[in-house]
Amino acid sequence: MKAKKEAKEILNILRNYYPDATCSLDFETPFQIVIAVMLSAQCTDERVNKTTPALFQKYGTPEKMAKANIKELEQLIHPCGFYKNKAKNALACSKVLVEKYNSSVPECMEELIALPGVGRKSANVIMLEAFHNAQGIAVDTHARRISNRIGFSSQNEPTKIEQDLLKQFDKKDWCDVNHLFVWHGRYTCTARNPKCLDCPLVKYCNSHNE
Ligand code: SF4
Repeated sequence: MKAKKEAKEILNILRNYYPDATCSLDFETPFQIVIAVMLSAQCTDERVNKTTPALFQKYGTPEKMAKANIKELEQLIHPCGFYKNKAKNALACSKVLVEKYNSSVPECMEELIALPGVGRKSANVIMLEAFHNAQGIAVDTHARRISNRIGFSSQNEPTKIEQDLLKQFDKKDWCDVNHLFVWHGRYTCTARNPKCLDCPLVKYCNSHNE
């Protein structure tokens, strides 16, 4: 783990390096970010953004998606991969939102996690992007890799990595950590051949300095 002061320095460097870092998924309503996050599992945000316009044009609300024909839903979701499972979850989730939440999305981690197809990582993203109310740090493949490489956490499990991150960053910074770790992982600290020569975090990085 890093000292909080050092974690803050790293965060400020990333803020300067990626001044435009934000959520890359396109959405207009809380329901749409729920579905977009669901589709983004094992899929790039770019591909999700190419898929959702047609999907949301037809099924852009919980009421509409709850009544969707599953085969048609599968066809629309197909480009994102794992389409059968994702379509099944999108349909089931929409039904719960209609029946239990009057077609709105609950602003509560526990209730989000209980929705079909929504895990802790997704719930963190939804709380942040739909409600601007970060309740934690979403540990996706980028956040996990960066946390291990730089030395924010030596854990493997996302929930344990998240607990380590929450200790090192102040709550007011969780939003930026969410966005900046994804951008750093996508554009510099890539899974294969990380661009260490261009990286502004070289002096802080355990992996690089080992
Ligand atoms: S120095 Fe290399 S390994 Fe370390 S954070 Fe930067 S890109 Fe990743």
